[in-house]
Amino acid sequence: MQIRLVSIPGDGVGPEVVAATLPVIQDAALMHGAGLDVLEVDWGGERHLRTGAPMPDDAAELVRSHDAVLFGAVGRPDVPDHELVWGLIIALRQQLDLAVNLRPVRSWENVPSVVTSAPGTDLLIVRENTEGEYTGVGGRTHRGREAELGIEVAVHSRPAIERAARYAFEQAGRRRGQVALVTKSNAMRHGYTLWDEIVAEVAAEFPAVECQPVLVDAMAAQMIQRPAELDVLLCSNLFGDILADLAAVLAGGMGMAPSANVSPATTPGLFEPIHGSAPDIAGQGIANPTACMLSGAMMFDHVGLPAAGDSIRNAIAVALLDSSNHTPDLGGTGTTDGLAAAVRSALNRER
Ligand code: ATP
Ligand code: MG
Repeated sequence: MQIRLVSIPGDGVGPEVVAATLPVIQDAALMHGAGLDVLEVDWGGERHLRTGAPMPDDAAELVRSHDAVLFGAVGRPDVPDHELVWGLIIALRQQLDLAVNLRPVRSWENVPSVVTSAPGTDLLIVRENTEGEYTGVGGRTHRGREAELGIEVAVHSRPAIERAARYAFEQAGRRRGQVALVTKSNAMRHGYTLWDEIVAEVAAEFPAVECQPVLVDAMAAQMIQRPAELDVLLCSNLFGDILADLAAVLAGGMGMAPSANVSPATTPGLFEPIHGSAPDIAGQGIANPTACMLSGAMMFDHVGLPAAGDSIRNAIAVALLDSSNHTPDLGGTGTTDGLAAAVRSALNRER
């Protein structure tokens, strides 16, 4: 198998964590009899400043001729965030129809969490990635201060709900067989009742999977009190976004949380750490590369080489057992390259 990857290191710590990840995924591919061709592109904030656009017009076309994208992070203090979020991240999600966002979170031995109930956590957030509260539908009125009004319309459609739901039930079938449907249908009576109805229909197609509706506020509490009981969380765009950051804290912080943007169709997936460009620590060589390496592992799961993903996850678990490898976000004094080297040597010992 030959895997053709587009690498978008981006800005801030993006290039640091991607550089640390590429040798690890190269080794893992080789170990499992696959080849990995990497095409690196300069898309991001620096390109936006230079050319007026964060990526070229034919970006999606280029990606479509590959198997997957590894994305570091974009964001610079001197470029408005929305230029990059809309001009690159959301544009790629839309053009590639990356309708589902997967955010797995687990606890790791020897990695502390500020949440004392975190040990034993192994959950997966499946987030609808294209609509809900993030469609930009709405507007502002400007009839003087007193009458100012901002309207943000949430859009929930049957096709989007169905494909996210099917994805969640399929994943749950391969895991512990439980889906929690996260909504707020007691207070938001139109969109989230539609979620309740459609998900109940999809659930009927998966008799081996249990499904519980849970209100988002109750879920926030449960994720702190009893996170180890959770398997798959099926979420709208907004709720998935919020709960994923909460979940990352269970794993030990932003540096530990990977994600995948995937399409139920066959377009290439986009794999990225959930953290941003972290300008506060960029350039110091201390960013935690784990989230990016785990995103690389998810890339292997998605292209049909899950054994390579497992090898990476095992090697990360081994490297993290030695606290001297821990980066400052985990309370250690380690470096990006040091942790990546430890993962690589654990990986090569697996052979
Ligand atoms: P964005 O708008 O791009 O999401 P942000 O500033 O909101 O940017 P992050 O860039 O994710 O969010 O940074 C949030 C905090 O997490 C910062 O203090 C940052 O240093 C820390 N952080 C993010 N990623 C990492 C990482 N890989 N390793 C260590 N710390 C990180
Ligand atoms: Mg952020």
